[in-house]
Amino acid sequence: CGIVGYLGEDPAGPIVYKGLQNLEYRGYDSAGVALVGEELTVQKRSGEVGALSVPEIPSAVCGIGHTRWSTHGPPTDENAHPHTGMTGEVAVVHNGIIENYESLRESLSDRTFTSQTDTEVIPHLLEIELEDGHDLYTALNRVVSQLEGSFAICAVHAGRNEIVATRNQSPLVLGHAKDGVFLGSDVTAFLEHTRDVTYLEDGDIAVLRPGDVHVYRDGTEIAYPIETVEWEAD
Ligand code: GLU
Repeated sequence: CGIVGYLGEDPAGPIVYKGLQNLEYRGYDSAGVALVGEELTVQKRSGEVGALSVPEIPSAVCGIGHTRWSTHGPPTDENAHPHTGMTGEVAVVHNGIIENYESLRESLSDRTFTSQTDTEVIPHLLEIELEDGHDLYTALNRVVSQLEGSFAICAVHAGRNEIVATRNQSPLVLGHAKDGVFLGSDVTAFLEHTRDVTYLEDGDIAVLRPGDVHVYRDGTEIAYPIETVEWEAD
């Protein structure tokens, strides 16, 4: 349903939390965040954003958040996003539906799943690619080629200030601020921080790192356009 991400100079927890509040108008049944430190800290539960207790980790300047509108699996704490795999090294938020998740899940039958969502195949597939020695961008690239359906996906991994994101038939936008970069399923996620945005297209992969953003299309880095949002939020 709603996605927010932040990587910058300030603690990510409060910024991501505020982004989730901004997205509440869309409707949702669960919410959660993942903050990046040496380990990933994931807080998620069914119910309102206000019921989430986002941990204070001043050193965590990278984080992602999600408001879930359940499509696969009831609105339980376990089914809330972000989803992690088996190692706790990766956290993923996802909007949309992975149509072929059942066959992917069958191919992952040696792994332990903790949710009933279509989403959870993604962190497991990413972990396998990372275990094979790929970096997070390459891992996402390889995983996306296996996915069918509509999705906006953001992923982080432990110990590295980096967010990778992609989309197919589900909106995802970058926000460029002086002291950081934002991701949102729509601009309202971060409009109080910046109006300079890049609308990602289907198949684009964005890589956010401290101080820079890269966007890749068909495996090649592109010079992404920046537009200024004129629209006024009430
Ligand atoms: N299909 C996913 C789920 O049910 C994501 C739903 C959404 O877009 O919030 O968890």
